[in-house]
Amino acid sequence: MKQQKIELLSIVIPAYNEETVLERFHEEVTGILRSLSIRYELIFVNDGSSDGTLEKLKQLKAADASVSFIDLSRNFGKESAMKAGLDHVAGDAAIVMDSDLEHPPSLIPDMVAAYREGYDVIHARSSVRVGQSRARHLLSGSFYSMMNRLAGDEVQFADGDKDFVLLSRKALDSVLQLSEYNRFSKGLFKWIGYPSKTVYFEQGTREEGASKWKLTSLITYSIDAITSFSLVPLRFSSYLGLLVSFFAFIYMLVIIGQTVFLGNQVAGFPTLVTLVLFMSGVILISLGIIGEYVARIFLEVKGRPIYFVNEYVPSEHEA
Ligand code: UDP
Repeated sequence: MKQQKIELLSIVIPAYNEETVLERFHEEVTGILRSLSIRYELIFVNDGSSDGTLEKLKQLKAADASVSFIDLSRNFGKESAMKAGLDHVAGDAAIVMDSDLEHPPSLIPDMVAAYREGYDVIHARSSVRVGQSRARHLLSGSFYSMMNRLAGDEVQFADGDKDFVLLSRKALDSVLQLSEYNRFSKGLFKWIGYPSKTVYFEQGTREEGASKWKLTSLITYSIDAITSFSLVPLRFSSYLGLLVSFFAFIYMLVIIGQTVFLGNQVAGFPTLVTLVLFMSGVILISLGIIGEYVARIFLEVKGRPIYFVNEYVPSEHEA
């Protein structure tokens, strides 16, 4: 494996209503980066925060020339904010991480070391989940195992995989070529391929504020994840159709047998109602699945930009 050098390391940090934690984040990250003695830039993306996040970023910028910030025109969501940051990377390697200290800056040296060894994509995965309920743990565990079954070999996920990743310039350029509107970055970082390595950390509890994910957003996130990487649900309706037809055929033979050989009067009404309701359910589920894909095709063909920038203040490295 060919060793790689870092001239400039860019850190991309999406921030949505994180005013309380930004200063501490900046302090911890710069402490770690200075100890590594590499040139760096911190690209903060203000994703339409309604608190004082932007003011905090301006203060950080005034005090530290390595800071750059992108102020988006409104809240576009974390995926879009990450893309905005990655589009502005000047370095030859980029790290994407959360601004709420859920992703420990102390892992950066390990990631940089793996990059220097020659890896292009370095994923961070948490090994222990402190402060997460058993139910949520079970739910995310079963989500990932279902996802892996659906997605096939090109992308395999593990419980504990994070949007905390280091990308070499080569890997980053590949990610930037993926211009899809519905982004599931965790999957995209794997889908691009290249030599990759996973580094582990112990997940702590959140430092400040609560997670901004509601149950509904988690469901949308899961549907996005599945529809971005799998066509299996679309085949589901065909398989279900075949299965139902098979049982209907057997049932028909049974009824014919009963009428012809046993002379039984067939009770039609309850059977009919049950079958009609069952089939309606099957049809609606299939339509719903197709609808999910059609909706995404609709969003993609509109080809709208993923975000708009209200203000961009570059770091000293780009200015
Ligand atoms: N975030 C963002 N836009 C959003 C929601 C979140 O940029 O609409 C940022 C947030 O500031 C944080 C990261 O994405 O840096 C992760 O957010 P959060 O902690 O809410 O998600 P979780 O860690 O629970 O997945």
